[in-house]
Amino acid sequence: MSAPVVEGVPFEGLAPGAVLGILGGGQLARMIALAAADLGIASHIFAPEPENPAFDVAAARTVAPYEDEAALARFADAVDVVTYEFENVPAATAAFLAARKPLHPGAHALAVTQDRLSEKRFVSEQGLTVAPFRAVDSLSDLEDAVAALGRPCVLKTRRFGYDGKGQVKILAGTNLAEAFEAIGRAPAVLEGFVSFAREVSVVAARGTDGSFAAFDLCENEHRDHILAFTRIPAQVSAATEASAIEAARRIGAALGYVGVFAVEMFIVGEGPSESVVVNEIAPRVHNSGHWTIEGAQTSQFHQHVRAVCGFPLGSAARRGRVEMENLIGDAALRWRELLAEPGAHLHLYGKREARPGRKMGHVTRVVPEQG
Ligand code: AMP
Repeated sequence: MSAPVVEGVPFEGLAPGAVLGILGGGQLARMIALAAADLGIASHIFAPEPENPAFDVAAARTVAPYEDEAALARFADAVDVVTYEFENVPAATAAFLAARKPLHPGAHALAVTQDRLSEKRFVSEQGLTVAPFRAVDSLSDLEDAVAALGRPCVLKTRRFGYDGKGQVKILAGTNLAEAFEAIGRAPAVLEGFVSFAREVSVVAARGTDGSFAAFDLCENEHRDHILAFTRIPAQVSAATEASAIEAARRIGAALGYVGVFAVEMFIVGEGPSESVVVNEIAPRVHNSGHWTIEGAQTSQFHQHVRAVCGFPLGSAARRGRVEMENLIGDAALRWRELLAEPGAHLHLYGKREARPGRKMGHVTRVVPEQG
């Protein structure tokens, strides 16, 4: 049994009736707050935008910039534990809050995972495979890195990248100065191109006592760099699934992590040579875990609330074959048809405007397995 590994202020664990502080007010915060309410925990959302999907379902809100220390201090006073729905929480904000209330996941997990370079170094130090990579801080670094890794390859900003933003694929004819310009000449990482057979993710939780529970491996299909479908089970061997989950367990333990996290991976090779390459870690609940609301014994959102409150983790067992479909932009206009479909579980995030590329909701279908 591993010893409790929790950084920051002493944490005794909470009881129902406590208040969960959540940084960020999008759909992930909304679904965390809904799960918290099921467990008798009220949520207080801190977000800069005046309108937010999470406000509809939270007991309290603070609308202020993440740099507003007076507002952060009042927020910290009003809550018992702090979590967040996004990895770009400024380090100063995390440190300010962690000095006042337990912050889960902790500032260390946040610092490692919000920078692609430190994340890749950290993952390879755990003995796990990542794409070959080089740090890029200048055009001449980029030229050297492309010469070393070969084309095609992928240039990614170290920070603030998501859904394919802040990255450029470098092909045979790509002009390197233009590629560097396209990512705003920001500090970056160049990655060798992984010719993957599938994209998968492990969504898992780690408790304050070091307990660990992973959901079954998720297979993800992206369209235009945005997650379109997640299907479970993933079409990989049992040995590959076990090694993917073991990779996540090792990452969670090495980060001293508390809460739900996702590890996105590529599956390369096939048959006996099938293996996993770690792409990135998301220190938060993840879109590829939305299927767990109806498809698993405990949803990722309940699991996250359990973990950050110091409660026992729930069973991550799956209830059947599951498909989760994201409703992006106008796809949410299908709501009436989806509501009429037997067995389709519709979730809408309450966003007023259906812009192209915007995640408006999702729908999950669970087919019980025989035997
Ligand atoms: P990321 O922002 O790192 O999650 O990358 C977004 C998407 O770009 C991934 O889901 C992959 O489809 C693709 N991608 C990222 N890195 C690589 C790579 N090194 N090789 C091949 N495809 C990649």
